[in-house]
Amino acid sequence: MAKDRSFAAKVAKASGKKSDQCSVCNSTTNHVLFVKSVYSDQTRSWKFNERYLRVCKCNQQEVYG
Ligand SMILES: [Zn+2]
Repeated sequence: MAKDRSFAAKVAKASGKKSDQCSVCNSTTNHVLFVKSVYSDQTRSWKFNERYLRVCKCNQQEVYG
């Protein structure tokens, strides 16, 4: 059975957490829950790595890009 790896995608959604200001670009930073799906060959199942990122103008390109 073929493995469909196209399912792997980056999903970023804004969380309800309060935002603060970046000292570098002076823009408001958003706390974003960043979910990355990873296929494990060992367990033959998808895992989801979740982590919170602070997104501002400094890194929004690489996070959303
Ligand atoms: Zn910044």
